[in-house]
Amino acid sequence: MNTTTNDVFQMLKSAHHHRRLLAIAERKLALRQLNQALSDHEEQMYQALEKDLGRPRFESYVLEIAFIKQEIKTALASVSAWSKPHKVKTPIQFQPGASYIEPTPKGVVLIISPWNYPFQLSLVPLISAIAAGNCAIIKPSEIAGHSALVIADIVNNYLDPHCFRVINGDVNEAQNLLDLPFDHIFYTGSTLVGREVMKKASNNLTPVTLELGGKSPAIIDEDCNLDVSIKRLLWGKFINAGQTCIAPDYVLVPNNMVEQLVTVAKSHLASMFGNPAIDSKSYGRIINQKHLQRLTSYLHDGRIAHGGGIDEQSRFIEPTLLVEVNLDAPVMHDEVFGPILPIIGVNSMSEAIDFINKRPTPLALYIFSRNNQTIESIIKATNSGGVCINDCLSHAGIIDLPFGGVGHSGFGNYHGKYGFLTFSHLRSIHKRSTHLDNPLKYPPYSDHKLKMARFLL
Ligand code: NAD
Repeated sequence: MNTTTNDVFQMLKSAHHHRRLLAIAERKLALRQLNQALSDHEEQMYQALEKDLGRPRFESYVLEIAFIKQEIKTALASVSAWSKPHKVKTPIQFQPGASYIEPTPKGVVLIISPWNYPFQLSLVPLISAIAAGNCAIIKPSEIAGHSALVIADIVNNYLDPHCFRVINGDVNEAQNLLDLPFDHIFYTGSTLVGREVMKKASNNLTPVTLELGGKSPAIIDEDCNLDVSIKRLLWGKFINAGQTCIAPDYVLVPNNMVEQLVTVAKSHLASMFGNPAIDSKSYGRIINQKHLQRLTSYLHDGRIAHGGGIDEQSRFIEPTLLVEVNLDAPVMHDEVFGPILPIIGVNSMSEAIDFINKRPTPLALYIFSRNNQTIESIIKATNSGGVCINDCLSHAGIIDLPFGGVGHSGFGNYHGKYGFLTFSHLRSIHKRSTHLDNPLKYPPYSDHKLKMARFLL
């Protein structure tokens, strides 16, 4: 074990033992410090995201900076109310007395985050952890290396170092951290690594939240506004060059609409990214060569109806539509996590539902339809972390909706109050008065006492 990592952990443990963040004022101070750090680092964030992901500033602002600031604003406004003890009814047999639930900090928590939205996915969980009064170690992804350095600058230079630290490093560092007895582990990343995280956490009986990925399907109903639906679908797919955990992974559409869908999509892609798309200032790049190679190999798993262009040097893959997809090929087994959209024709809605239900439970499900009965029947017949109707991704931006997966897409959730709850222990407290001491419960028992108990309980 790396001694400095352990030293940091012990320092945070000690801060927690001394209840450094128990007072709401201390939590609010940390949230304001984080807010200031974000304002001071806005330019560095844009530049790091540009270097790591070729990210356009608009996307960086909307999906990282504004998103994080909104979480801070909500936490600042609500943390006092969220933290208040909540009174519950005390049954007659426990009277006179009072009962309440008090959210208390879990302790020292570990946040491990991935590379695709490096700021949002490390700092939003941190905001929830702070609001709930926890100390935290954050381990950003080494794959988005420029962003990881800025995250370290933000946290290590602006927040109390006794309570919050960023530890940068590779997989070995992540595994070292996972050996420590944290009070909660919040992991965002692949399902494969999620399994390892859970195994390691079990050694210390540490509770985990797993925010994983998977293949999120989109269903296009024949009764939909095709033009708007396709435009929204493409936006959700190609933002951040398709490297979004809830990007629509593939689309199911009635067989007789495949050709029409491709025609409408081509026209929208031309107006969004121009021709050639490689010159577009509104389109990102693939994170590294390894992922570029992985994505390139999917281009053989169907017929390219649009796109397919690659520039290895700049890690560019053109927004691509695949038809006549081989359903046994890797593109339909793996999460695509890039700018390739398989389009699959189906004969009926029940075939589309079967298609989804035969696969691991997705993180998101997208339904494009004007027919409420159809929408309801799809929702009832399937399961997923979240559902978004007639749009993509927007459900994740609504702070009052819990965000998280189910089954293979993970468990636990966060955003707004749900993040606060994830990082809180709900402590049950019952306080009895000593004025009255009912003799009923004490031995020696008698038939009369049993009769009384049966009457009361
Ligand atoms: P990644 O490779 O950056 O890994 C994520 C983190 O796990 C990193 O900090 C990394 O150092 C660490 N890690 C990697 N291997 C490890 C191991 N063996 N043991 C311990 N830690 C390890 O990111 P990734 O996994 O490629 O992320 C992409 C995946 O994340 C996709 O499946 C995507 O859908 C999912 N994702 C989910 C969400 C969500 O909110 N549910 C958000 C973004 C991404």
